Amino acid sequence: MEKREFRAESKRLLDLMVNSIYTHKEIFLRELISNSSDAIDKIYYKALTDENISFNKDDYYIKIVADKDNRTLTISDTGIGMSKEELEEHLGVIANSGSFAFKNENQIKDGYDIIGQFGVGFYSAFMVADKVTVISKTFGSEEAYKWESEGAEGYIIENTKKDIVGTDIILSIKENTEDEKYDEFLEEYRLRGIIKKYSDFIRYPIKLDITKSRLKEGSEDEYEEYQEEQVINSMVPIWRKNKNELKEEDYENFYMEKHFGFDKPMKSIHLSVDGTLRYNAILFIPQEAPYDFYTKEYEKGLELYSNGVLIMEKCADLLPDYFSFVKGVVDSEDLSLNISREILQHDRQLKLIAKKIEDKIKDELALILKNNREEYEKFFESFGKQLKFGVYSDFGMNKEVLQDLLLFYSSKEKKMVTLDEYISRMAEEQKYIYYAVGESVDRIDKLPQSEVVKDKGYEILYFTDDIDEFAIKVLMKYKEKEFKSVSSGDLGIETDDNDKDNEKEMEENKDLFGFMKDTLLNKIKEIKPSKRLKNHPVCLSSEGELSIEMEKVLNMMPD
Ligand code: ADP
Ligand code: MG
Repeated sequence: MEKREFRAESKRLLDLMVNSIYTHKEIFLRELISNSSDAIDKIYYKALTDENISFNKDDYYIKIVADKDNRTLTISDTGIGMSKEELEEHLGVIANSGSFAFKNENQIKDGYDIIGQFGVGFYSAFMVADKVTVISKTFGSEEAYKWESEGAEGYIIENTKKDIVGTDIILSIKENTEDEKYDEFLEEYRLRGIIKKYSDFIRYPIKLDITKSRLKEGSEDEYEEYQEEQVINSMVPIWRKNKNELKEEDYENFYMEKHFGFDKPMKSIHLSVDGTLRYNAILFIPQEAPYDFYTKEYEKGLELYSNGVLIMEKCADLLPDYFSFVKGVVDSEDLSLNISREILQHDRQLKLIAKKIEDKIKDELALILKNNREEYEKFFESFGKQLKFGVYSDFGMNKEVLQDLLLFYSSKEKKMVTLDEYISRMAEEQKYIYYAVGESVDRIDKLPQSEVVKDKGYEILYFTDDIDEFAIKVLMKYKEKEFKSVSSGDLGIETDDNDKDNEKEMEENKDLFGFMKDTLLNKIKEIKPSKRLKNHPVCLSSEGELSIEMEKVLNMMPD
């Protein structure tokens, strides 16, 4: 027997679980069933793709047994199981769980909510159990192991016996206290309800022993109780269900059970396509960016199933980079199970599905922009940068898709506007779409360069993201109107800057300008008098393709 300590992060989370006052403790069952389902997915896939393994579909199931006398609830599965190392690796360390990551203390303070809404995998068992025992035998091994823990003190691992491959999770359910009730997690009707609510679409049977009564043999009025095993879930994956049968809540539950995000999805999209190309998909547009969204660690992709069997957890080829925030599943009967990642990349079917998905997401976003502006603006706060990056990164190949989804802050409206809205308000003689670049709206407001444009009554778009100007440089035009920085040399506005006046002033101030130029040496190319300035003594402008701000960004980039 070996006694081990949990790692620090796990310990903190465990504490949180044990002391959780969260009312929806019931989600522990969702978490454990989903782990069992994942484990069966793995062995099922192995069996389907390895002809040396013969298998029987009935061999795959999840069984829940409540034992009131011993206060235990056991969740057994015939999944792939865990080796000793895997028990250690997967259950000893929370950081290994894909479902949760502590980023900062604030999140821990808000911990109750996080746990409540989304669960954190295996450890949620400690919300209802004071001891958790895991007995597992992994595929291809003769040995079985027992992992056991009573919470933060640590855990033990030892050899044990188990007949079939798979995992049993035995929860010693806590005693009721004055404020907290746990007995219900040993009640059939309650367990049945939880399974139906959260795990109905799990593709493997979830079996529960239901107590029934019948007439005693030979008796006419004496009844006896007996147990009958029942499959509780409908086993139809949610994406195969009819849209009409589903409520928004069902999609939200699915989103949470899959750990697609810590938020509520902004939009759920359900596609059932029949015809030459057959597939079902459920897509989610999240509301908030995950903490790692704008980092290298973030991996885009959709879960890919072939006729109900999971073949890839994150199929990147199904999503363009600029929609990398989309989560969901795609299931197609037309994909081969044995397909390798390399072949998949070139698969025609997959490409067609990806195209349809892209179109659908675009259309949905456009609809939200049109019908629910507030919601869209929130979305744009989270993911707008990614859309602008999309315009920029593919050299404008996708500008048709993306340009109408962009929002920029407007000097006139004092809020976010679309390019189309800008155009529709343009004065007749106005030649360009004007923009100004700066760190913040406040700072741009004070830019001397924008005065002339504003005085003309023209609207200016404020670019506060580094990517903004790069993106519109790639767009070049919107509906035939070119973009123009307010700090560019030629603003296309009639000013009093006529050459004759300027020449005169140039001549008069020759010495001053010469001194200024010498002092600033190579930093500037030319000094000119200007009538553009009203409240400011001086401003910088640029003539070439690059604005001053773009040069700043480029200079910051590593070579
Ligand atoms: P996640 O499911 O997000 O990975 P969990 O905390 O729920 O995180 O589970 C951690 C890991 O433990 C799983 O990824 C899996 O490798 C392993 N595991 C948990 N339950 C089982 C099970 N019933 N059968 C096999 N492996 C399991
Ligand atoms: Mg899990």
